[in-house]
Amino acid sequence: MLKLKGIAAASGISIGPAYKIGKEDYVVPKQAIREEEIPLQIQLFEEALIKTRREIIDLQKRISSDMGQEEAQIFDAHLLVLEDRMLIEEVISRLKKERLDVAFVFSEVLKKYVEVFSKIEDEYLKERTADINDVGRRILRNLLGKERKGFEELKERVVVVAHDLSPSDTAAMHQQSVCAFVTDIGGKTSHTAIMAKSLEIPAVVGVEGFSARVKSGDILIVDGVTGTVIVNPDDETLHAYQEEEAKLKGIVERFLSTKDLPAATLDQKVLEVTANIELPEEVPSVKLHGGQGIGLYRTEFFYMNRKEPPTEEEQYQAYKYVAEELNPFPVVIRTLDLGGDKFLSQFEIPSEIEPFLGWRAIRFCLARQDVFKVQLRAILRASAHGNLRLMYPMISGIEELKQANAILEEVKEELRGKGIAFNNDIEVGAMIEVPSAAMTADLLAAEADFFSIGTNDLIQYALAVDRANEKVAYLYEPTHPAVLRMVRNIIDAAHTAGIKVAMCGEMAGEPALVPILLGLGLDEFSMPPLLIPETKFIIRSVSMAEMRELAKEVLKLTTGKEVENYCQAKLKEIIG
Ligand code: PEP
Ligand code: MG
Repeated sequence: MLKLKGIAAASGISIGPAYKIGKEDYVVPKQAIREEEIPLQIQLFEEALIKTRREIIDLQKRISSDMGQEEAQIFDAHLLVLEDRMLIEEVISRLKKERLDVAFVFSEVLKKYVEVFSKIEDEYLKERTADINDVGRRILRNLLGKERKGFEELKERVVVVAHDLSPSDTAAMHQQSVCAFVTDIGGKTSHTAIMAKSLEIPAVVGVEGFSARVKSGDILIVDGVTGTVIVNPDDETLHAYQEEEAKLKGIVERFLSTKDLPAATLDQKVLEVTANIELPEEVPSVKLHGGQGIGLYRTEFFYMNRKEPPTEEEQYQAYKYVAEELNPFPVVIRTLDLGGDKFLSQFEIPSEIEPFLGWRAIRFCLARQDVFKVQLRAILRASAHGNLRLMYPMISGIEELKQANAILEEVKEELRGKGIAFNNDIEVGAMIEVPSAAMTADLLAAEADFFSIGTNDLIQYALAVDRANEKVAYLYEPTHPAVLRMVRNIIDAAHTAGIKVAMCGEMAGEPALVPILLGLGLDEFSMPPLLIPETKFIIRSVSMAEMRELAKEVLKLTTGKEVENYCQAKLKEIIG
């Protein structure tokens, strides 16, 4: 039995077999063959090509029925690679000439192809490198007789173990096949961790060297509450965790019992508790957990795991669906927040030394107005079908906000000209997640209908701590006095200007911080659906008068740790 500590990224306890995923680096042995073996090797190659073709067609069919024709067409390019005469003939002629094992010859030809294609200037051809690589690895896997790895083929629920997972890897996971995940690196508010909360599975990140110490099939206990992972537990530990799992379920039931009651304090201040979602599929979960709308719809996940960006019509249908489902509750659609740790293959984003400080979010959208306007048109059209609002990410100053609003006006004008219906008074908010925005909240308030504090980024920028880096995770403190002062200033500035303030960073869903945020005057808490019932429960258990006093006390404290301890003690008192 091995017990390791990491960072608790998504709450809950899961027990299951490990399933390691990583870059599939095949070791291809270089073996000489005899002349009489050549026909058999050619036959093996042909069989591998046929098997790969069958796999791709099956995959294409499944994707076509699950996601639609357009998504399935991505694989047409893969099928073309399989029919590439030049590639096939080169393998066969080298096989005859060099008399080496077909898998080795193929891997050498593949390497050469990938290298040549990746150097081509033509962007379209360059993009084909990924197709060649993808299909090539499938063929190689079939030549080597390796098992195909993919979530869709898993028979039992597994714990995914990886050195790292990208947000798009996580987005491709399904609850049915993955019950938890553990990674060697990553921070609490990385988008990979955030996606785990959406999938409602526990996750522990930043467990140094974990993937190297675990084999697929090892039994793992993933405790996303304390950030502990146990490998091959003994019977006693297993029982203890099974009991703990049942206890957690009991606590959740208790919170769920009040999920549909208003989020009102004992002295009748009514708050809004809304949900953060990444995909429209999460709408049922929002309702199930008593969400009073959506405070953050991270639309960039819509653009992931696909070749082409979503069209205006596709986006319109998705936003309309969410708006209609939640009507009359509000739905805040955040415009594309690309960059940072979220990259999309459809757009050419140069690799940057500091992607979190680079060409991301509103900066990208203001530069690529073609992409931005497609989304704005879709949002505006959908606004005719429910209570839609929109907000811009990463606003760092008033010019950006004015520029974005001017583009929105242009799009409105265009729609008006075509007689297309939309809500002309759609509320437009600014995310406050850059310190410069926090410091000029009074100025920004003049141009925005509401604020939403993005603490995930605000904390990383204010404290100079990369949100996705486990090495500095100990410095990432939502309770740091600097963070609390910024939050207070933003709320005060907004209230002076008469606008409301939401918080949609992970801080809003930290149960221990709900009291201080109430005391500071926050109007809306937005969080992953699973956390909504507990937050409502806490709000319903306290009075504003007491929380204002608590906030005054907490603001006198001098370190993040003191604040954390104070808030944890208060939480225990509140929920018993
Ligand atoms: C934030 O930064 O707090 C936020 C909500 O946006 P994201 O996590 O998507 O960067
Ligand atoms: Mg952000």
